[in-house]
Amino acid sequence: MNYSAYSIHKLREGLKKKDFPSEDIVKDCLDRIKISKLNAFITICETEAIKKAKEADKKIKDGVDLPLLGIPISAKDIYLTRNIRTTAASRVLNRYIPQYSATVIERLEKAGAIIIGKTNCDAWAHGSSGENSDYGPTENPYLKGYVPGGSSSGSAVSVAANMCLVSMGTDTGGSIRLPASFCNVVGLKPTYGRVSRYGVISMASSLDSIGHFTKNVDDSALVLSITAGKDKNDATTPEIEVDNYKNYLTKDIKEVKIGLPREYFSDGLDKRVKEKIENEVKILEAKGARIEQISLPNTEYGITCYYIVQPAEVSSNLARYDGLRYGNDRAHFGNEAKRRIMLGSYVLSSGYYDAYYKKAMQVRTLIKKDFDEAFKKVDVIIAPVSPTLPWKIGEKTQDPLSMYLSDIYTVNVNLAGIPGLSVPIGLIEGLPVGLQILGPHFSEGKLFQVGKAIERPKI
Ligand code: GLN
Repeated sequence: MNYSAYSIHKLREGLKKKDFPSEDIVKDCLDRIKISKLNAFITICETEAIKKAKEADKKIKDGVDLPLLGIPISAKDIYLTRNIRTTAASRVLNRYIPQYSATVIERLEKAGAIIIGKTNCDAWAHGSSGENSDYGPTENPYLKGYVPGGSSSGSAVSVAANMCLVSMGTDTGGSIRLPASFCNVVGLKPTYGRVSRYGVISMASSLDSIGHFTKNVDDSALVLSITAGKDKNDATTPEIEVDNYKNYLTKDIKEVKIGLPREYFSDGLDKRVKEKIENEVKILEAKGARIEQISLPNTEYGITCYYIVQPAEVSSNLARYDGLRYGNDRAHFGNEAKRRIMLGSYVLSSGYYDAYYKKAMQVRTLIKKDFDEAFKKVDVIIAPVSPTLPWKIGEKTQDPLSMYLSDIYTVNVNLAGIPGLSVPIGLIEGLPVGLQILGPHFSEGKLFQVGKAIERPKI
């Protein structure tokens, strides 16, 4: 039986009624991982996962009720997992075994989740396609030979190909939303600071967001209610109370004001994707939402700004991998990491700092202000995730600039620190397409509310 095609809610119901044990679910997922040729995992935790499933079954028998008890999950291989190898998909860390787990991993395990493995991704989360992994590219489960989107490539695939119910990813410039859109799953990038970054290998610390992939919006809301909130180990998590996300799932969208930013629907956007989004917007309007054209005038500076701020932080964060403290020496860095270290060191060096880094930080403020202004007029914004459909493996690897441009609609969200939810809206020529819903800081509940109005019922 294909248990993992279900939602968390359905599986938890079945587990509680003793229709099937967690052990069957976990074994079903492990089988699927083993026979798959998609290369979604770097490490599989077979023995440990089966052991945990048996423990979960015993707890269920004893009447223990936890939101994720017995549910298999995976995590991008940049989440520290105690006693489980964590590579960041780089040869630098090919033998690194962490001493402790990331806060979110601890929270999910406390809620009963079972980690079945660590997923493949672009090394250090640098990329948009999954092809920068030192462990080989991951394939799109929908069409052979196509990219699944990155950098959280294996995470999106693991959920899309029914290898687990939830996968934790990271989004620094689009790395959850893009693969979610390319793989037909729901991907949440929460507000910066809503979820603790403690124990997640840093890419660019002022942009990194800790989020997840699920099969549907309900599951996404449930997972956020477990991962979100203050963590004393991460000073960027504020005291702000975590919303009751469940309450938003049953609200209709009458009178919800939805903005469509002109700059996101211009010539660069694939016409077929545009049409599909416009179609969804019509459906939302019919359901009572109010649609408004808006403008985010500094949109076009996003990629330039991001490719100064992000490498600057990358160059600083990767400095600790010197071969003395962790893993192998710097000669093991791949080309993309080297490119970013050099770019970052350059924009931070004296004489260039003011011209590049400082200027980029000023532009970042303008980009954030665009969103602040927009959210005075509308509740949420709807936009495409990617200007194109998934591309063929190898198509953009020789042209970093065209790869960078695939994030044109996602990076500004990270620069502004706001949340974004990517929701599937169907297939075009066999390849999935999603749209993103954006909201003000800490408005994840609203995103789930609108996301529910868009998603088609699955199982
Ligand atoms: N594709 C973007 C980059 O390569 C975003 C990566 C991410 O979000 N981790 O920088």
